[in-house]
Parts: sequence; C-alpha cells; structure tokens
Amino acid sequence: MTDVIERFLRYAEISSQSDPLNAAQTPSTLTQFDVAEVVANDLLAVGALDVRVDEHAYVTAHWPASSGAEDLPCLGLIAHIDTAWQAHENPVHPRVVLYEGGDLVMGEVDGRVVKTSPAEVPALAGYVGQEIVCTDGTSLLGGDDKAGVAEIVSLLVRLAADPSLPHPRLAIAFVPDEEIGHGAELLDLGAWGARWAYTVDGGMLGEVSYETFNAAEAKLRARGEAVHPGYAKGLLVNALELLLKVHAQLPPLERPEFTEGREGYFFLDRFEGSNETAASEYIIRDHDRERFEGRKRELEDAVALVNAEQGGDYVTISIRDEYQNMREAIEPHAHLVENARLAFEDCGVTPYSEPVRGGTDGARLTFRGLPCPNLSACSFNAHGPKEFVPVKDMETMVDVLVDLVGRYAVPQPGVEASDPDRTAALV
Ligand SMILES: [Zn+2]
Repeated sequence: MTDVIERFLRYAEISSQSDPLNAAQTPSTLTQFDVAEVVANDLLAVGALDVRVDEHAYVTAHWPASSGAEDLPCLGLIAHIDTAWQAHENPVHPRVVLYEGGDLVMGEVDGRVVKTSPAEVPALAGYVGQEIVCTDGTSLLGGDDKAGVAEIVSLLVRLAADPSLPHPRLAIAFVPDEEIGHGAELLDLGAWGARWAYTVDGGMLGEVSYETFNAAEAKLRARGEAVHPGYAKGLLVNALELLLKVHAQLPPLERPEFTEGREGYFFLDRFEGSNETAASEYIIRDHDRERFEGRKRELEDAVALVNAEQGGDYVTISIRDEYQNMREAIEPHAHLVENARLAFEDCGVTPYSEPVRGGTDGARLTFRGLPCPNLSACSFNAHGPKEFVPVKDMETMVDVLVDLVGRYAVPQPGVEASDPDRTAALV
C-alpha cells in the first residue's frame, strides 16, 4: 500500500464531522482536534516547519523552498479536516476493495445493500480492475476532504525524499468546519505567507475549478393586522399571504430543483409564522454578476409591489452578500489555472473545469486577496455513505502536486519575483 493510501485510511478512521448547530464555535466539534493532532504529527515527522495546531483546530506549517527558489512567492496548499454532517460518521470503517465492474458494493446495513453503480456514477466504469477505498456502508468515508489532506502530506513526503525536486516555499493549512461554511475564515493570511494557493477539495481527478456562484441570502419579515376573521372584510392583513404574494412573483422555474450548469436560482429556504407575523428566507445564486444583482433587485421589487398594493411597509427585506464568483479575481492570475492544467496533462490526466454550483473555501480566500482555485481531491459521492475514492487517482494526484509545485519554482510570467509583505512573516 502506498503512503498516501495508508495515510488516508488512518485519517478517515477518525470521525471529525462538523456541526452546523454549533457553528458559533470554531471548531464546531472537538473531534476535529483529534484529526488535527494526528495530521500535525505527520507533518512534524516528515520535517515540516512551524507546525502548529491553534485553538480553533487550524493546522498550519511551512516547507522551505528548494535551492534556488528561495526568493519566489510562497505557494499555499489547503484542505479541510472536517467531514460532512449530513450522514452518519462514527465509527468509520474505511476499506480497500477491488472493483470488478457492475455495482460497487459498500456493504449491507439493516438488510439493505449499500451500493453505487455506473448508472449513478458513469465514471465508475473507468475503474474496473482498480482498487477503490470505500466504507462498509454504515457511514460516510470522509474522502471529502481527508483525501486532499493525505495527498498534500504525501506531497511533502515526496519532496523530503527527493531534494532534487524543485518547489518554492510552501504554506500548508488544514482547516476545520469547511462543511459549515467557515473553513479558512480564521486563517491569518499574513502570517501564513502564501501569495497564491490551491484548495485540494474537488471531485474527480483532473478538476481545476475557479468559478463559483455569487451568493446572497435574503431575509423577509412581514407583519399583518389581526382581526377576527369573521368580521375581517377590508380590515385584516395576513402576514403569511403577503409573503406568498412576494414568492408568487418570482420565476417558478428558477429554483434549485429546475436548474443546472450556469443557471442561477432563488431558493426558498425557510417559511414560517402566523397571520400576525411571518418570515421567509431565500438564498440567491448566480454565476453571472449582472444576473445576480438583477435577482436581488427582482426580490426587492417584489416586496415593494406587495407593500404598494397593501398601502404600507408591511414587508421588510434585508439582503446580505455571502460570497462572490472567484473567476473575476482569478483571471489576473491566469497562471494558477494554466499551471494546474499542465500539471494534470504531465501526469496523463485530461484536466476539466466546471462552474461550481456552490462556494468553496477558495472563493472566500480569493476575495480576501489570496487567489485560490480548487483542485480534485478525487472523492466521488461525497456527503453520503456511497462515497468512494479510487486508489490510483489519489496516487496520481500526489504526482500532479509534485509537478505543480515544480512549476512555481520559476518566476511566473508578468509577476515580480517576491513580495516582501507576504513573505516577511516567514522564517
Ligand atoms: Zn470538501
């Protein structure tokens, strides 16, 4: 068994789900410290510098540049140590199976066979005769994103074993609570020191994604005028009806269940209350900035119309931007996408880029000034018990990372060699 697989199995066995109900604290679950400590020890063992687990379970470390690349900008690599909360994960029984085609069977749970098939995951057909890591069906695997963590640590193992491999100074971060939207939020970018970075948190081998949704949430509050319904004619104002009127003005086909690709949506996420007071909440998503802004106006206009019809400010709306499509901020650093694609090609993998229908840690980091595309971690069927990670893909991903860091051991076209502001904090 190669070291990346051994490492992945060891990390996967440690349950570390994040908890959206405890999102006010980071980490949201103490178990994330368990995996943080194990990973930090692995980083120390391989010889990483400045290895640290902070009070929020962020694991950070640095790796010195190869000789001759000391003055080049520091490159960051990020993965997350928490796993999804949507499926059971304690205990985790990861195992390696030989896939011989047809159904990939995880196991049997309460008399029901947990399996996936090429019909569900067409790419599975390409893995016949290969080893695949999955669970026994009783829990999720956590390849999202422990595969990414293992791949990055194994990259360092490779660099340690072969000093002839070129690379700039590397900054490593394994962050908690990505699955509940926190992720790299508390990462001190100044101290960490990377000029640009990659998250290794994507899906199938070959992914280079640098496009996400623009995202906002809208909170609507309505008040009514309560009157005995038997004597209400011309008097009663029903708060619930007002919110339904707002909703009825939104395009019915622009909802998550009817959209894909680059199609944006309004998602009614919450609706509650009484005839006296009621509340609804939406999330608004679109890849295109103009259409995104248009959606926000559309919802505001719908509220304004209902208020105008009712003759008062019965409905209020507040909209908060959550994150932005990182494409605009990545484009000035085209080498990030180009180098990643070339690294995949060097390793015999055809790279692909698809607009992500969500956000990533990288999207938030990109707008904090750290351009950060997302690369494949190689897990399939994430967030459920049918999750699996092909062994050979993980091994190839380590090769890709070795190739990729090598591409940053030379100056990037049009980019000055070093940035004192960003590297000063490093020893
Ligand atoms: Zn992830």
